[in-house]
Amino acid sequence: MPNKEFKQKVKQWEVWEEITDNGVTISFGRSEHILRFKSIGDISDKAECIHKFEAVTYEEAASIYNLRMGYGTYKPQGKAELCPNGCGCYYYPESSGECPYCGVLD
Ligand SMILES: [Zn+2]
Repeated sequence: MPNKEFKQKVKQWEVWEEITDNGVTISFGRSEHILRFKSIGDISDKAECIHKFEAVTYEEAASIYNLRMGYGTYKPQGKAELCPNGCGCYYYPESSGECPYCGVLD
């Protein structure tokens, strides 16, 4: 039996921080979304990128985010279920609904 082929779409994720007189504003998301938020002013020019990493799904990214921010273990919403495509991976239908190997499932 040939080795399993692992196809996954790795995405860039970023964490931005802005410190103001009123406190700290944190923005976390995919790099392309962060870029859009910056272009429309939802993230200020004074904000600074404090973390940058790669992950496939939101749940994976949120786990890394929590670790780097010192927030403790990330718990995805809902129960993990085996991917119906038979790839052998678990995914979170009530959270992102994205299988790390098969992409977003309906
Ligand atoms: Zn799958």
